Amino acid sequence: MRRIREGEVPFAAGTAVQEDPGRPVFRGNGPDDYVCVECGNVLASSMDPDYMTKKVRIRCGRCRTVNVAVTEEAS
Ligand SMILES: [Zn+2]
Repeated sequence: MRRIREGEVPFAAGTAVQEDPGRPVFRGNGPDDYVCVECGNVLASSMDPDYMTKKVRIRCGRCRTVNVAVTEEAS
């Protein structure tokens, strides 16, 4: 994952907050685990990449960094 840029998206709505640093916010049936850009904590496990769009934002329960799933800008 990557760190969110300031002003990129509002922090208010739509950001999933990881309550327990030891437990991923999302758990799916896909091939990929998503980890915090800052501390490497697992935020979402076994996710399908199709689900992890730019809209998916997760605040790390360990270091409070807000991560977004998509690491590259859409062309
Ligand atoms: Zn973190």
